[in-house]
Formats: sequence, C-alpha cells, structure tokens
Amino acid sequence: MTVILEQARRLITEIPGPRSRELMARKHSAVAAGVGTTMPVFVEAASGGVVRDVDGNILIDLGSGIAVTTVGNSAPRVVDAVSEQVAAFTHTCFMVTPYESYVAVCEALARLTPGDHDKRSALFNSGAEAVENAVKIARAHTRRSAVVAFDHAYHGRTNLTMAMTAKSMPYKSGFGPFASEVYRAPMSYPYRDGGLDGPAAAQRALSVIDKQVGAANLAAVVIEPIQGEGGFIVPAPGFLAAIADWCTDNGVVFIADEVQSGFARTATMFACEHEGVVPDLIVTAKGIAGGLPLSAVTGRAEMMDAPHVGGLGGTYGGNPIACAAALATIETIESDGLIDRARAIESVILARLHALAATDDRIGDIRGRGAMIAVEIVHSGTDTPDPERTKAIAMTAHAAGVIVLTCGTYGNVLRLLPPLSISDELLHEGLDVLAEAFAAS
Ligand SMILES: *Cc1c(COP(=O)(O)O)cnc(C)c1O
Repeated sequence: MTVILEQARRLITEIPGPRSRELMARKHSAVAAGVGTTMPVFVEAASGGVVRDVDGNILIDLGSGIAVTTVGNSAPRVVDAVSEQVAAFTHTCFMVTPYESYVAVCEALARLTPGDHDKRSALFNSGAEAVENAVKIARAHTRRSAVVAFDHAYHGRTNLTMAMTAKSMPYKSGFGPFASEVYRAPMSYPYRDGGLDGPAAAQRALSVIDKQVGAANLAAVVIEPIQGEGGFIVPAPGFLAAIADWCTDNGVVFIADEVQSGFARTATMFACEHEGVVPDLIVTAKGIAGGLPLSAVTGRAEMMDAPHVGGLGGTYGGNPIACAAALATIETIESDGLIDRARAIESVILARLHALAATDDRIGDIRGRGAMIAVEIVHSGTDTPDPERTKAIAMTAHAAGVIVLTCGTYGNVLRLLPPLSISDELLHEGLDVLAEAFAAS
C-alpha cells in the first residue's frame, strides 16, 4: 500500500525533533562514524516532492536522495512492480538461473541510450561497481591498461573508483594506496578556466593525455558529461565531442559516467544527448530504478562482448526486484512525460536563481540542465569560493524544512536535484525558503 503524503511543507517540531534526536544518539552508538548524514533527521515516509520525518515534520525534497528518486519516492508504478516481484521470487542469481526482467532492462537500455549501433548491457548494484566494470570491459577490449579521469571527477568509493575520483577529502584521504594506471586530465570548467572554449579546453586535456599517457597505452577515457559531486560543472560546448572524437580516432574507449546525470534528470534521457555525443560505453545507476539498488554498463556489442564468459557478474547484479523497479521507472518516465517535466523544472529554477543573483553578488555562477541545477557561491566581487556561507545557507534551509545538498571541489556549490514528481507549488515554496536562507546568511 502506497503511503499518501500531503504535498506541503509542515513543521511540527524544531528540526531535528525529539524522535530524530533520539535516533541520532542511537546512530552514534551503533553506526560507524565514517557514515555521515547531511541532515540529522530520520525519515518515516516520502512521496511526490516531500519527505516526512519521524516527528511528523514534512520536508520539501530538493535532493532526491542524491538524484535517485527522479520519478518520486515510492512512485506508484515502482511500488506495484516491486510488490508483485517480491511476492513471486526475491533472488535466484542471474548467473545461476536467469529471469526475463534482467533481459528486459538490457533491451530498454539499448533502446534508450544514445546511438543506434548494436548494444549489450550488464547489470550491477552500485554506480561504483558499474564504473569498475566499464573499465574492465574497456581493458579487455583494448588490451591496454591506462584510464584517464578528469579534474573534479567523482566515480565512487571503491579502490579503483577512489583512484578515479579527484577530491581527497572526504573520499580518499587516508584510504590509499589507490589503483594504478589512473591518470588525470584538466576539465573544461567555463566559470574557472578563463573562458576557454570547448575545443580549446579539449586540446589542453588531449595534450596532457597524449604527453603523459599516450594513446597506445590508454584503454579508456571516463567522464561525467555534467559533473556531479565535483560541482555540477557543465563543460563548454564542443568539449565532450572533441574528446569523444579523439577517442574514436585512437582506439580508446569513451565512457560516459551518467550515474548522476542519466534517466531524464537533465531534460534528456541522458546528458550526452545535449552535446550530440554517442559514448562507446555508458554507465548508469542512481535514477535507474526509483530507489532500488541497480546499475548498468551499456555499450557497443563488440566492446561489451570482449570479456570472456564468466568474466562479468556478481551475486546480486540485476536483482529481480531492482529490475522490476527499473522497468516501472522507465515506464513512468515515458508515460508521465518526465523529460518535459525536467525542462519545465529547469525554467522555474533558473528564473528564480537569476532573480536572486540580481540582488546577491555572492552568486558567482548558476549552471546545470533540467532538474540538475547548481549555484556557485563566492566572496563578493571575486571568484574566491565561500564554502562557509554555502554551508550556512544549506543549514538554514534544512532548519526551515527544505532538503538541499552541497557539492563542489571547493565545497561552495549548492545543488538542486528535485524529484520530477514535485509540484510547481512545492518547488516554488522550496525556492522561497532558499531565497530567505540566502538573505539570512
Ligand atoms: C554517485 C556516483 C557514482 C557512484 O555511485 P554509487 O552508487 O554511490 O557507487 C559514480 N559516478 C557518479 C557520476 C556519481 O554521481
């Protein structure tokens, strides 16, 4: 049974309330300290554009659990599909006795991802696991070992993906040694790279790759078409295409990490489409299954089929409940017109943020696409990052019942990732609260 929640912000106690504080005390005694939380609030239910906490407060969700519940929390089709599947069977392991829904998800990925070439997919549990497998596939295909990732990149927290992730604190510090054969290239970051255009920024990156790695040694270039944790950095037009073309010319596998930007989030099914780029391999997770753990690598059949039989897999990869959720999520995106909805959300958010920037010269940059929009916060009249104010704004919004996340290499980016199921009214109310938080901080 789906919990129907009133779609309105409602504060009954202070944030956090007494029951959340009690649970937070239990967390401190039972959960490893390394697992932090953005807000000290425990959840009881969530749907549409709201999250209800254990004290009965109803919060506006501008985070979607980090771009996961794009179709909304406990979206009705997902709830039905998961309920039906969980009653039929919960697990067999696809590598032991397979089931149809796994194949159907791979068919859907072939249909939805950019390019009309012959494609294959493999399913996993997390974004990091899928990134690791994309690298395995690229290495098996090219018989080369080097991997290039970019400044500000985030690809996960496993050993290989930590090596690929750029930022030390909190993701890597103290956790080395890291996987070898991972190299870093400069990203196109229009706000901070002196206005380099896309092709020039690509030339700068390709020169580093050519001189420091060499195409003959390079299996794959891995890039987020819009960077997530690194600060919602949208590369200058032409950057991605120039890198992808160079990869094609040099037999290097071009891997798009669309874990955060995929599945309608940026007002296209995948963010690569904005730049007309067709990746060789595309990595998806987060928004793919309405909150169930699922990830995928999808790509050119001849690359995907390079690893030997038994070389890819995992006990839970493509779990039947997660696959049922993914099929229901995809149906929801398509039937409910959520790509158009993401575009409408973009207009609302951009209009409000630009109005805010007109009176606040500490907003250095507003960027992003669809329902993936961020504000970079700086000191007045400079481009010096202001992580303290960024944190203060986020905490003020939290206390007022709005879930908002920060990100960025310099910790000075507020990011908005509302579920596409949020109403205009609720979105505006969330942005009102954010505007008040900017004024107060
Ligand atoms: C979140 C994220 C990952 C890692 O996904 P997990 O499911 O947390 O392992 C990888 N790449 C990008 C771009 C992400 O945003």
